[in-house]
Amino acid sequence: MIRLKTAVCKAVFLRYSTGVIKFEGLSASRGIVIGPVFCLADELPVSVPRYGIAAKDIDREWQRFQSALEVSRKEISLIRDERNKEQTEILDAHLMMLSDPEFIPQIRKTMESNLVNIESALQTKVDESVSILRSTGDSYLAERAVDIEDAFGRVMGHLLQEKPGARSGNAGSRFVPPGTILVARNLKPSEALSLRDSGITGIILEEGGATSHVAILARSWRIPAVMGVRGILARLVDGEEIILDANDGLVISEPAKDVYEAYRQRSLAAERKLAASAADRDFLLSAKAETRDGAAMTLRCNIAGVADAEQSLIEGGEGIGLFRSEFLFLGEEDLPDEETQFEAYREVASRMNGAPVIIRTLDAGADKMIGEQIELDEKNPLLGWRAVRFCLDRRDMFKEQLRAILRATAFGDVRIMFPMISNVEELDAALDVLEEAKSDLSAAGIPFNAEVKAGVMIEIPAAAVCADLLAKKADFMSIGTNDLIQYTMAVDRENPKVAHLFDGFNPAVLRLIKQTIDAGKKTGTEVSMCGEMAGDPASVLLLMGLGLRSFSMSPSLVMQIKELVRSVTLTDAQEIAEAAMELSAAREIRKLVQEKLKTYE
Ligand code: PEP
Ligand code: MG
Repeated sequence: MIRLKTAVCKAVFLRYSTGVIKFEGLSASRGIVIGPVFCLADELPVSVPRYGIAAKDIDREWQRFQSALEVSRKEISLIRDERNKEQTEILDAHLMMLSDPEFIPQIRKTMESNLVNIESALQTKVDESVSILRSTGDSYLAERAVDIEDAFGRVMGHLLQEKPGARSGNAGSRFVPPGTILVARNLKPSEALSLRDSGITGIILEEGGATSHVAILARSWRIPAVMGVRGILARLVDGEEIILDANDGLVISEPAKDVYEAYRQRSLAAERKLAASAADRDFLLSAKAETRDGAAMTLRCNIAGVADAEQSLIEGGEGIGLFRSEFLFLGEEDLPDEETQFEAYREVASRMNGAPVIIRTLDAGADKMIGEQIELDEKNPLLGWRAVRFCLDRRDMFKEQLRAILRATAFGDVRIMFPMISNVEELDAALDVLEEAKSDLSAAGIPFNAEVKAGVMIEIPAAAVCADLLAKKADFMSIGTNDLIQYTMAVDRENPKVAHLFDGFNPAVLRLIKQTIDAGKKTGTEVSMCGEMAGDPASVLLLMGLGLRSFSMSPSLVMQIKELVRSVTLTDAQEIAEAAMELSAAREIRKLVQEKLKTYE
């Protein structure tokens, strides 16, 4: 078993694809938003005055506390009346805390026995309860600790003769500019409530979890939110434009052009989808991905893990066109063993109700380094020891993965796909390992589908040029345009300086795509596409015209692509493709396709 390099994998943020910096957190409320951040500085410590009192002062202190409690309850009741159900529940919980028949007398007891002022007694009891709840390790109870701090913080605010919510770091007392993504260490539920009409477009917190009240509120407001992004405040500057991908729990800073564009498309798609009525969505879900003149398309989903499989079903994907299995390998200290991998593959296969699940074998290297790859420190990792090249040199690990995938074939229509194939010999070698894995399982009497389909990714120009040769041995081919564009144009997809060259409409790229589609037709081999172009409406229109019938994309794009497919005719698409292949510049081709697209709006 290979150990991943801890220093890299334990980092909170990772570099992946096109030079972006990604910070990982927990998705709390789905959605994608691009915009400037507003960083709420970390809370300053609030100093609570602590002094001794005489026994005769106890009643006076207690009276101060009762008044502060009373004002706090009134305030909460007032806010409560204007709020919706989720928010009301939170505020009701706060009201109950402020009348708790056990907790409140304990505060008095502390004051009496320690002979200290009420602020000090209150702080002691709140701290005690909060630390007990947090020490349970139970995320639900830990979130309740936030409620206690919030409710009694309001009382403390009155005792300290501050306005409620005026304690430092409180979003309720700060002007948060509308249209910004709020970044903070944590938010109390009441602070979050005050943000309701603030016009913020997203929330990123260093702390918190998916069951926190802030998360509940963000979900009810449909504000994308990511929690638990440790260290984010220190990494962002006020006003910086970022991508908040709350679908995947990611914050992307310094996005390169192609990543930015991909996300812009995704957020536009999401906006459009939201605008469509629920009835339209229901209709679209059950409708076929068929052009107006009856040409059927297959729309599948790209996933990076088990959790995404559910989303694919929700969005109406017809199976998984690309399971990026290396994401199971990234971020873990140890590479997952056969059993762990099998469980992940089996789970996805079982959920797909018999629809195909194409699992790509480990595509590590370059931007997704593991173990020895990191230590090797290659000069040119993009052209180096990655994907199937690495796997063929690490046969045992490769076979372990293939056995895990094969075992999952007993639970659904699981297929295997080899990435970065550059020649027929490599495919032969990979198929040999697959045969060995099959023999292992047969010898052990473990069930699997011996007829499992094994295909290749076409993402290196050499593979596209020789697609006819590969097609004779592969059961299917899937065009990976992200790398195909990179290698065809000799443009590092991570380098923003040359991003203008990263264009799928470049005639060279289109010719390779067409060549692959034609090779598939000639040999009767299924051809699909799982690169980002497959989720871009303009590209899909052109690709249908070039003869492609199967597309795999992010689940959030399926509806949009289905809508596109249903609004066009294949005849139009073919005419556009024919004209496009005569043009000599990507810009001209894009213009042609986009103009046609406009006529459908
Ligand atoms: C591709 O290269 O197009 C592809 C789908 O794979 P990845 O983006 O993971 O390299
Ligand atoms: Mg690739």
